[in-house]
Amino acid sequence: MSKESDCIFCKIVAGDIPCFKLHEDADTIAFMDINPVNPGHALIVHKVHHKDLFEIPAGNIAAVTRTAQKVAKALQTTLEPAGMNLLQCNGPAAKQSVLHFHMHVIPRHMEDGQTMNWELVQGDMDEIGALAEQIRANM
Ligand code: 5GP
Ligand code: ZN
Repeated sequence: MSKESDCIFCKIVAGDIPCFKLHEDADTIAFMDINPVNPGHALIVHKVHHKDLFEIPAGNIAAVTRTAQKVAKALQTTLEPAGMNLLQCNGPAAKQSVLHFHMHVIPRHMEDGQTMNWELVQGDMDEIGALAEQIRANM
């Protein structure tokens, strides 16, 4: 399985650093973002390391998207937000900060003031963990 030794998401996939895991299958893993834009912000990654949209095989994107839909449905059931963004960033202008292809699933609320690019602000780990448990129960 291809991985990069200095990649934070490869370390999460390997279980070398902890995460609030929502889902895992043969190809993908879904977990809570620790700097959530809104409560429930989740990330989906393929287990095989590819840097971005331009390097990842299409089939791997399909696997990530399948898991993203599963997580989005659980978030919708759990939080009933007024909207949901799937977002995937490539390159510095798009503010990609982790160079391992990933999909954001972000619950949205009317007039929540969110923009396409955002600063990372660490969330409350107890709150994120508690929310992960609720979402998992709806998967
Ligand atoms: P990007 O800006 O590359 O599209 O998004 C990377 C995301 O990874 C950011 O939203 C950031 O909060 C998240 N992130 C970075 N390091 C960690 C980590 O160690 N654990 C988790 N759960 N999320 C992380
Ligand atoms: Zn990686």
